[in-house]
Amino acid sequence: GSWSSSDSVISSDSVGESPPPTAYRVVLLGASGVGKTAFASIFAGAADSMDSDECELCGDEVFEKEVEVDGEAATVTLIDTWDSEDCPMQSGDAYLLLYSITDRASFLRASELRITLRQFRPAEQTPIILVGNKCDLVRRREVSSSEGRACAAVFDCKFIETSTAMQHNVWEAFHGIVRQLRLRRDSKEA
Ligand code: GDP
Repeated sequence: GSWSSSDSVISSDSVGESPPPTAYRVVLLGASGVGKTAFASIFAGAADSMDSDECELCGDEVFEKEVEVDGEAATVTLIDTWDSEDCPMQSGDAYLLLYSITDRASFLRASELRITLRQFRPAEQTPIILVGNKCDLVRRREVSSSEGRACAAVFDCKFIETSTAMQHNVWEAFHGIVRQLRLRRDSKEA
């Protein structure tokens, strides 16, 4: 179907006793081979009730689950895009922008994607985390941590290095994006 960034779950106008559940759409972006599928599997693997669907339009995989971050529940819908040349940039509340530290071309691709994202989301404070994956492959490293960090600073986003193989920092990335979404939500409410 057609997706908008304001999910009906979020913009609920029902007057209930408990606050409406917060649901966020997080999109995985990055060149092919950087580890998006592996990222999504870790996310999905820990799900109690996993809900995996294929978006017929672009073949994206969609996972939804409730995660607890800082003692507060959040529903995260994770969208694992294909190489995302023209995939739904508009559909996310936040983005995990992946590259592989062993593949400089994927790092450059991440920069391109960041620029494209900015065109779709000009002034908005859309949370983005630049994710340098495969940090377990130390001997094959082509992109240094400081380059990654510098790039994130230029692009005004957070930075983290991960390894899906070692399950290192993957949940930190998901939790980090939820925290940023909350900060944005709270500053809107204030
Ligand atoms: P995608 O094309 O972005 O979805 O990438 P995949 O998730 O399919 O990963 C591509 C390849 O990289 C696969 O063979 C994965 O097993 C491998 N891979 C993914 N993440 C890591 C990682 O953190 N460390 C290592 N050593 N290999 C990884």
